[in-house]
Amino acid sequence: MKLLTTTRGPEETQAIAALLAPAMVTGDVIALEGDLGAGKTTFVRGLAEAIGIEPNRVSSPTFILVQEYESDDVRTLVHVDAYRISDESELDAIGWDEMLEQRDAVVVIEWPERVSARLPREMMVVRLVHAGQDERDVEIVIPESWRERFAMIADRWPGQIISTDSSSATQSPPTSDAVCPVCEEALVTSEHHPFCSERCRLVDLGRWFHGRYSISRPLRDDDEFEL
Ligand code: ADP
Ligand code: MG
Repeated sequence: MKLLTTTRGPEETQAIAALLAPAMVTGDVIALEGDLGAGKTTFVRGLAEAIGIEPNRVSSPTFILVQEYESDDVRTLVHVDAYRISDESELDAIGWDEMLEQRDAVVVIEWPERVSARLPREMMVVRLVHAGQDERDVEIVIPESWRERFAMIADRWPGQIISTDSSSATQSPPTSDAVCPVCEEALVTSEHHPFCSERCRLVDLGRWFHGRYSISRPLRDDDEFEL
């Protein structure tokens, strides 16, 4: 599941973080991607405030790689800035694996690219991109297994929500008489389940995007992608 929006000013980026906060649970890891000044630390401030931590306590940990903020909330916030990591072996010195396995904290990581080999398989990825002096494009990718938790914010999300559910193949493999809901061809492989191909998945996504879900006829070669 992907959430897209554009924020206009730091307060809006903080508000986005606060909107996500109620759906987060201890054990969650959030990777914050974006250039210098994109708003990663601003995002962490919004998250901190939402879970009862004084937002002004949050700064980029510059020399201290990791900062931990306790809150009255049950959730501790662990804030990592990997910018200065030059060698992944440095992570062992700070007990990286234990930190990520800490089940009583939400862990947010700035500059996750620097520690890419040591990130968990399941995490939320927040990408912040400069789109003007005070504007930032925000893209948030949420693991499918977290989807239910985040359904609660769907009504209040100030932007687009894109379903990226192509991972259900392992949960519900197609039966022998299953057909693709877009082109109605028999499903042979489960790779793009419940669709027969990447193309049909994209067509379905395009329809969803445009609020059109009805299937009036099978897909033809001259159909255009609507994304
Ligand atoms: P990073 O941690 O990514 O280096 P910071 O959060 O420390 O970035 O800094 C972001 C800077 O950009 C702050 O000075 C903030 O006030 C400013 N800013 C302007 N517009 C926005 C916005 N829409 N979202 C976040 N920060 C913004
Ligand atoms: Mg920062």
